[in-house]
Amino acid sequence: MGNCVFCEIVKRVQSAYIIYEDDKVMVFLDKRPYNPGHLLVIPKEHYTDIFDIPDDLLAYLITIVKKMSNVVKNALNASGIRLVQNNESSAGQVIFHFHFHIIPYYDTIDFPTDKQSIADILRKWINETKGIPNH
Ligand SMILES: [Zn+2]
Repeated sequence: MGNCVFCEIVKRVQSAYIIYEDDKVMVFLDKRPYNPGHLLVIPKEHYTDIFDIPDDLLAYLITIVKKMSNVVKNALNASGIRLVQNNESSAGQVIFHFHFHIIPYYDTIDFPTDKQSIADILRKWINETKGIPNH
């Protein structure tokens, strides 16, 4: 889809700190994080919102959201995780390519908060656990 920044990230026309990808999904750091480690989980194929994403893809996506929530919780020692998913501009959707936000919360932040360091920590965690752990 033209002019879609997330499709451009999938095609690697735009850069992003990509944490995980497979044939269906991509996970990367939010460009303007609410908190350090704020992730976006998107389908690689372009769907606008909850109203047009197919059920089976949505079901798969939420399993990745769960796994990545565990990665953030454990790798960055988050005390809590907020999930956000906005549909239509009136509800705060800014990029019109379906996405989940994974927003971690912390009691204390004990890691470097620049994006490169966070990406390295998360990628290392996934590599060492040989895939995305469930818990
Ligand atoms: Zn798109």
